[in-house]
Amino acid sequence: MTVSIKKHELLEHGDTEPGLHIVATPIGNLGDITLRALQVLSNSDLVACEDTRVTRRLLSHYNIKVPTTSYNDHNAKKVIPRLIKLLQSGKIVALVSDAGTPLISDPGYRLVQEAISNKLPITTAPGPVAAVAALTIAGLPTDKFLFIGFLPTKKGAKKKYLNELKNIQATLVFYESSQRLIETLHDMTEYLGNRPAAVMREITKKFEETKRGPLNELTDHFTVEGAPRGEIVIIVSSLKTTKMSDQEIDRLITKELVNNTLRDSVSVVAQTSGRARREVYKRALIISKK
Ligand code: SAM
Repeated sequence: MTVSIKKHELLEHGDTEPGLHIVATPIGNLGDITLRALQVLSNSDLVACEDTRVTRRLLSHYNIKVPTTSYNDHNAKKVIPRLIKLLQSGKIVALVSDAGTPLISDPGYRLVQEAISNKLPITTAPGPVAAVAALTIAGLPTDKFLFIGFLPTKKGAKKKYLNELKNIQATLVFYESSQRLIETLHDMTEYLGNRPAAVMREITKKFEETKRGPLNELTDHFTVEGAPRGEIVIIVSSLKTTKMSDQEIDRLITKELVNNTLRDSVSVVAQTSGRARREVYKRALIISKK
């Protein structure tokens, strides 16, 4: 699909002003870039990128020919003075990361801090963030959420961190790698308690997939199936899965079976009660035959 953009539409809100522009880029699907992001990138004197090879692919896809430079946590100290100098001379500098919004589990914080202390203009061309994209499809409360990003990788630090999160009354949003997914789901079940959760992978990409259920079931599922490949967001509800008595569970199953199939009833009751799906299934089977 070709998008035709009339120049006046892009310029509706004024031409790109000099200063530092924090520009969000797609988290997978190259179509997920805003018209203004393209405008800012096209007008930039320099695009500071986490990885120039990744960003050049995006820029060439949109036929944008501007100079790029590498900016990441390792070279920040060296690169920042050069970027600040350019900004002081009235240039347009864009900052992008490999995917999504810079500074969100990505480099950029030190550059923004430095630009602020030098009283330089900073603005943003907002766009995709994996955390927010995942929240919109998880099916868990979105009225209050806390972005955690990546958990510590060391066992002790991870346990301590999860224990600190235990009493927070907000939906929790985590980034996780595929290799650590099973262990993390297991640790979450143990330290946060069993709760409704969702695992989203490869959002906006070909193999996008969402799996919802109580943490213990998700752990079982991925232990059996193997961890999925690709990029992953885990969302965990703050609602503790209440410990329901067997009678309450049976009552809930009976109620669900009135309007739902056996399979759907089992899903709802397992998610609400935090009981293992196979256990709810056994009870539901007996009830449905009565
Ligand atoms: N700045 C990015 C953002 O705005 O979301 C996040 C960068 S962080 C280095 C990369 C992590 O974000 C991945 O390990 C994964 O947890 C999450 N992520 C990024 N893109 C994703 C996608 N398409 N699907 C699922 N998770 C994604």
